[in-house]
Amino acid sequence: MKRNQGITLIALIITIVIMLILATVTIDVAIDGKLFDTAKDAVDKTNDKVGKTQGRVNELMGELEEVEEWQESQKPKEHNWQYTDNTLASLKCTCSMCGGERIVYVGQEIPSYEAGPTGTEWVVFGAEDSDKNGTNETLLLTTLEPSTEELELEGADAYNNGIEKIEAKVKEIYGEKARSMTIEDVNRTLGYTPAGGMYEDENGDIQTTGNFTTKLKDLSIWENIKSNGTETPDGANTEEALGEYELDGYLYDVVVDVGSGTPHAPEETCNEAKNLVFGTMNVPFGCYLASRGVFAAHDYAFFGPGAVEYGTAGSHWGYLFDSYDHPDDTPVSYPLSVRPVVSLKSEIPAGGEILVSSEEWTVDFWM
Ligand SMILES: [Zn+2]
Repeated sequence: MKRNQGITLIALIITIVIMLILATVTIDVAIDGKLFDTAKDAVDKTNDKVGKTQGRVNELMGELEEVEEWQESQKPKEHNWQYTDNTLASLKCTCSMCGGERIVYVGQEIPSYEAGPTGTEWVVFGAEDSDKNGTNETLLLTTLEPSTEELELEGADAYNNGIEKIEAKVKEIYGEKARSMTIEDVNRTLGYTPAGGMYEDENGDIQTTGNFTTKLKDLSIWENIKSNGTETPDGANTEEALGEYELDGYLYDVVVDVGSGTPHAPEETCNEAKNLVFGTMNVPFGCYLASRGVFAAHDYAFFGPGAVEYGTAGSHWGYLFDSYDHPDDTPVSYPLSVRPVVSLKSEIPAGGEILVSSEEWTVDFWM
């Protein structure tokens, strides 16, 4: 931007010499007539003027840059939702669109968002980094309760095509902008990190392999599993096919220390988040999740769609299909609600009151 645009003396002399040659005037004539002195004088005066003008131009450019920086700072940026503490009860955004600070609560009603059947209440569910750039730019809403309408899934089909059927049901009820809640959504809202490769050993104790890719045939309980049947959801029903399935399922519950060996949602997570996912202890509710997994008990393997029910959350719902070779196998079917999630990236409507109970789940539920 700040180039020197003056004239150099050399350039001018060269120009004059070329002109003189063209005009067939000798160099002596030019020197005698003080042509070069006059030229130098003209160059100095011109360069002085150019210098002053350049200074003013530089000043104006500096002012323009400041204006451009200010304009840039006024443009809407991404939201940057963060939980305010490890109870996961509230989220804060400090972007310019949110006026520098905006707090929303998990379970807070967003009355101006309307979709789904009449009377559907939408509440804050959490936030996510949809574009994977390290900032939670997306606020997630869900409904206060799962759908009234239920979806019936059955047998092996529940594992094979369950995710698609759950997604389709959610869109049918809540519209195209909605997607189904997944086990990952539930984990995020509860602050739960799943341990991979969950199975029940010979003693009925829950173990994990530490990853989601251990094959059934590599488990210590594989001999037990295959001896009771080798039914697979893909219909191959062979030992080889069953052994290739990966142990990617897991299950946990909301109650702390009931002694079942099942992992729990973090104790410090707020009751509002737990109750938004599971319902209250007195009125628990369930729904299918658009997830699926394989879990192993000590003598057979479960294959299922994800679900939340009776205070438990899992990537599989374990009773619709298993590898056990039952003598009179008829597919098990089960009706369960679905639950939507919608993503709000820019327009975040005003929130209302917090609709979710803070009642605490207790051990009594299981007694
Ligand atoms: Zn914001």
